[in-house]
Parts: sequence; C-alpha cells; structure tokens
Amino acid sequence: MLVVMKPGATDENVAQVCRKIESMGFRPHPMPGALRTAIGITGNSGPLEPAEFETLPGVAEAIPVSKPYKLVSRELKDEPSLIPVGPPEAGVVVGGPELAIIAGPCAVESRDQIFAAADRVQRAGARMLRGGAFKPRTSPYAFQGMGEEGLQLLAEVRREFGLMIVTETIDPENCDLVEQYADVLQVGARNMQNFSLLKRVGRSKKPVLLKRGLSATLDEFLMAAEYILSEGNYNVILCERGVRTFADHTRNTLDLSVIPAVKAASHLPIIVDPSHGTGKRDKVLPLARAAVAVGADGLIVEVHPDADHARSDGYQSLYPDQFEGLMREITPIAAVLGRTTSFSPAELAARP
Ligand code: PEP
Ligand code: MN
Repeated sequence: MLVVMKPGATDENVAQVCRKIESMGFRPHPMPGALRTAIGITGNSGPLEPAEFETLPGVAEAIPVSKPYKLVSRELKDEPSLIPVGPPEAGVVVGGPELAIIAGPCAVESRDQIFAAADRVQRAGARMLRGGAFKPRTSPYAFQGMGEEGLQLLAEVRREFGLMIVTETIDPENCDLVEQYADVLQVGARNMQNFSLLKRVGRSKKPVLLKRGLSATLDEFLMAAEYILSEGNYNVILCERGVRTFADHTRNTLDLSVIPAVKAASHLPIIVDPSHGTGKRDKVLPLARAAVAVGADGLIVEVHPDADHARSDGYQSLYPDQFEGLMREITPIAAVLGRTTSFSPAELAARP
C-alpha cells in the first residue's frame, strides 16, 4: 500500500499517517518528492484498507502497489533517486548528471599497489576507488584478501587522495568491520540473495552497491534491493555485472537490456561492471561505451597498475593507460545523453 499525501500536506500530517501505520503493526517509509510525499507501507500484519488512511488530514489517496517490490518501485517514487556518497563536501552523488565512475583493482594487495592504482584512476577522472579487502572466491585456496589491513590501506588512500572507498562486505558480522572504513558497502553477486546480509546492510548508514546475482531475474534483483530498503536504508545503487549463459566467448553475458528495464521499474540508479561482465580486458572498453550509451548511471571498472601480476582478476583488469582511454571515449558519449564525467585532459597532461 502507498499513501500519497496532498501537495500542501504538513509534516504533522505525514507524522500522523506514520503513527497510524505503526499502530497497525506495519512500518512506514516516507519518501519526500519534488511535488508531494508518498509513504510506503511494509510488513506482513494482514490486509490493509485504503479507507483507513483516506480520511486522515493531508492524504490525497491510498493505493495498492501492484508490483511485488514496493519501496524500490516507480509506483512509490517517480523521480530518480540520488545517492550521496561520503560527506557532503566530497560532492559525490550517484544517479545525478555526472556519471559515477568507480575504478581500481579487484583486490587490495599492498600499499604500493593500491596507492599506484588510486593515483592513476583519480587523474583519469574516477571519484571512487574500488578494491576488495575480503574476497569471496570460487576456490577456498585462492587469495581471500588482506582483511582489516586492506581496509586500513583504503582508509589511508581516502585521506591522501579524497577518493571515496567502495569495498565488499561478505557476511553480517564482517559488515560491522567493513562499514567502519567503507563509503559504499558492496554486496557481491554471490551474496545477492544472502538475506541476512541484505538486512544487515539495510540497517547501515552507508550506501550499498548491490550486484546482480549470477542468474537473477529482474524481479529477484529488485526484491533483493527491497530487502535493503525495507530495513530503512534507501541509498542503494544497483549494478549489472553479467549473468551466466551458454555463451563461452566471455566470462559472463553482460545484460545491458536490464538498464532500461530497471529504469522503467525502479527509481534506483544502476551502474555497469564491464570487467566481470566480460572477463576479458579487450572487451571492457567497448562494453563500457555501450553501457553509457544505454543510460547507465556509471561504471565500476577493474584497473590494476601491474595487471599481469594481479592476485585476482588480472586478465580482465585494465592497464591504467587503457582506463584513461576509456574515460576519454565515454565522455563524449555521456554528453550526447546530457551527462558528464570528471575526465579532464588538463589533469592528465599535468602528470609527471
Ligand atoms: C568484484 O567486484 O571483484 C566481484 C567479486 O564481483 P562480483 O560479485 O560481481 O563477482
Ligand atoms: Mn574482481
């Protein structure tokens, strides 16, 4: 159920509706919009009658939401959500006119590696640095990440470069630690339906980057996001990172058609990961261009200062020069769509 307030409704009118919802055993989710506030109702305390709300002051109407996902749906909020990352003075917002560019290695490997990566991606126009300190790997014998030491290096990078930090949390207990360091909590593809992790990040104050599961349908993807919003964290960024298909010329099949589908169904921003989406370095640039053209709100790209010796995902990591080329090429494509990047040829030319 969705309670739509009249344009002139007061804060007290909204509060009264919220109190009524709580008294019935449900949870209210007020979502202020440019023209009016809508209040989503979640919970499983039985059926709801629109008439219960339509008599309250300031209420325009109460309407059932037809989709299984409620809070993420465009029925609740028609305007795109803007997700602020880090402190307001950092000026980083996902879903606005500037494309969100997240770049860096698959995993934090050493101080030298992560500082070199940060230096190169920042000069090329990335505003956020990626790097896993905890790596959920297919093999238990593969490199599992540097753990807390890796998080401390990421915190140093933030102090030195002002880049916002995007790093993965792998389970609810681990989230207690990761959220102390991260600006954005990444939930990996394999964890997209780890419901206890989704609920845990839903109680965090940090924005969440939710990657699409390896075989998730659009509804399953949006329902995973719904778990996070239903716990009160509305700052969710979706990420298409390729799905499993019969195709074997790439690691995964990057499903760019999901971008307009998500945009039609949800107000949440969606970015694209062409690195895991293709698994091959030479496919990353063309798919990054396509992702921007199809309307993605940003990219997350693996870039490694010494990709040939990376401890994970080296074969799909761009060399820093290739990332600069990517930024150069996507910037005019973004402009066609009325969007910008922070790529600056002058900044690059200033490199010693
Ligand atoms: C990653 O971003 O390094 C990663 C493991 O991604 P995914 O969860 O999409 O496989
Ligand atoms: Mn990776």
